[in-house]
Amino acid sequence: MAYYYFSTDRICTVSDSEDSNKSAEEEKFADYQCYICYEISLNIQECKTCERIFCNRCIDDITKSKPPGTEVPCPNNCVPWALDKPHRSVRNAIETIEFYCVNHSKGCSLKLKVHNAEQHIQNECEYTMMRCLNEGCVKEMLRKDLKKHFEEEC
Ligand SMILES: [Zn+2]
Ligand SMILES: [Zn+2]
Ligand SMILES: [Zn+2]
Ligand SMILES: [Zn+2]
Repeated sequence: MAYYYFSTDRICTVSDSEDSNKSAEEEKFADYQCYICYEISLNIQECKTCERIFCNRCIDDITKSKPPGTEVPCPNNCVPWALDKPHRSVRNAIETIEFYCVNHSKGCSLKLKVHNAEQHIQNECEYTMMRCLNEGCVKEMLRKDLKKHFEEEC
């Protein structure tokens, strides 16, 4: 599909439920969420002091927002912010978590694991929003509608 690019800002969502009461399943995930963005990622580090998990993307964002050489405190106020690879049991647990696809509310019924979520959403999910890349066309639509758009409308 060379004509299109995906646009999504989130890879996974733990639940599609709107209400604030967390299900038992969501509670279970809470231990594995990034303390900053609440997403679950395989690329994580753990603060050795408070044992909170941070994804590498958030760590990068925070570090880059400070002048080089400045000491960056843990967002949970631990100083210094000493990061380490989380225990294998944590990494194993994350590997087994099943998520709804981020496009669940748009109609995708698949459940994904972290290691295949990105591939699914970027390259496979019929319910990912895509933009037609034909010159002059700025239409956005679900991946499943692109073929028809491209062949019949654009
Ligand atoms: Zn994060
Ligand atoms: Zn900490
Ligand atoms: Zn999907
Ligand atoms: Zn088009």
